[in-house]
Amino acid sequence: MAKMLIGGELVDAQGGKTIDVKNPANGEVVGSIPRGSTADVDAAVEAARKALPGWAATSGTKRAQLMHQAAIKMHEAVDEVAKLLALEQGKPLAHAKIEAARVAENLEYFAGLADKLRGDYVPLDDPAKFGITIRRPVGVVAAITPWNFPLTLFANKLCPALAAGCTVVLKPASTTPLATQRAIEAINSAGFPAGVINTLHGSGAEVGDALVGHPKVNKIAFTGQTETGKRIMQLAAKNVTRVTLELGGSDPMIVADDADVRRATAAAAIGRFFNAGQACLAVKRIYLFEKIAEEFMAKFTERATKEWKIGEQFAADTKMGPLHTEHQRAEVEAQVADAVKRGAKVLAGGKRPEGAEYAKGWFYPATVLTDVPEDSRMATEEVFGPAVPVFIVKDLDEAIVKANSSIYGLGSSIFTKDFAKARRAAEQLDAGYTWVNDIQVAYDQLPFGGAKQSGFGKEHGIEALESYTEKKSVVLAG
Ligand code: NDP
Repeated sequence: MAKMLIGGELVDAQGGKTIDVKNPANGEVVGSIPRGSTADVDAAVEAARKALPGWAATSGTKRAQLMHQAAIKMHEAVDEVAKLLALEQGKPLAHAKIEAARVAENLEYFAGLADKLRGDYVPLDDPAKFGITIRRPVGVVAAITPWNFPLTLFANKLCPALAAGCTVVLKPASTTPLATQRAIEAINSAGFPAGVINTLHGSGAEVGDALVGHPKVNKIAFTGQTETGKRIMQLAAKNVTRVTLELGGSDPMIVADDADVRRATAAAAIGRFFNAGQACLAVKRIYLFEKIAEEFMAKFTERATKEWKIGEQFAADTKMGPLHTEHQRAEVEAQVADAVKRGAKVLAGGKRPEGAEYAKGWFYPATVLTDVPEDSRMATEEVFGPAVPVFIVKDLDEAIVKANSSIYGLGSSIFTKDFAKARRAAEQLDAGYTWVNDIQVAYDQLPFGGAKQSGFGKEHGIEALESYTEKKSVVLAG
């Protein structure tokens, strides 16, 4: 059974309860975790608070050294962590390995920034005085992560927090805690002082709520559903705790009449079907100019049908594993059924795969729909699975209006050879990211975060550090 890391010790829940973790491909129990309660939340937050002054006072150079060392430890653990991730999440092993390796890369990136935090010199009107700004760590960070990319998403929070001198209590999703726990143990073995990094397991409603409302937590870094994010904002108001929220998305892709259609279909397929469509940044609505619509749909449908082999996560030829939970599959099925009932045509997929190998898991195929009503669930909600609606538009004006009609504003993309169209899309799409002739990949070097109900605050890039530090003004008088 996995444990929690609290104050440098691997511990069980104080109440002695556990939660089983299951393989989405067959429902078998693959491990268990402690089911924490509010007493464990208190213990983890106290440990983080106790470690804070020492870690905040540790030099940037020393913090960087430990983080570089942690990256080495994480590299050594990639195979073991990836296996756990594939087992509990359902994603193909090859993809799990990429995700595990990304944790080490993220550690390296922020290690490189740990000794480069600095303030400003500000001349004041009075010649006998001057002002400076200094950057202080915000304090104890509660990092709460979802199940779709458990490793990438904890790294996005842990790494800038450590670089900035904050201490962390990390609560992973209760259905994907095993890989996170193992990765944290590898990272912590680099020699971080006790209490700098802590983990807490248990249900979001119980330990998540207690953590968010804890008076000694100074910042909440959350990734998950928009509805959960709204609840977190409300709970955080109690103690005026700062929050960054990385929430749901419904990213539009626009394919203009001059686009390289083959390239656009390749990008759309990866953008929609990677991780069985369970990605925040993903192609979730496609807007095609009339001229290329037929060609795009034919090529895209062929890719969806032939290239995205479904299977269990450890089979070498699997490109798409099962959906993560029964509930997740039921939700996607309901969204597709709603569109079909209202006149949509299924171009690919649309029903569960048949065969004994799929009987016990939450499998669903790559699915493409056209003639989807614009007020249907697929068009207005986040579709968190491998299904996508394709719409036809007459020009860029219509494409941008429709792309922006969503309550979400996370990513977006346009395929065009016309620089003017690309520039308009970059300037006018309401989203935190616009890719031009490229797929939805978030880079360590570029700030990433949403607009509208996709949340606020940035992860990645130098900008991520800003939300883990506060600028303080100091006046120096002679
Ligand atoms: P949830 O919001 O259900 O859960 C996310 C995390 O929050 C889990 O650890 C969960 O714990 C915890 N949680 C649940 N309820 C509470 C609560 N009341 N207080 C505190 N914590 C709580 O999201 P999902 O796991 O379903 O993740 C999918 C969603 O995440 C999608 O909407 C997706 O778009 C979004 N996402 C956004 C990204 C972005 O960067 N913008 C990136 C990736 C995903 P438990 O598991 O125990 O319920």
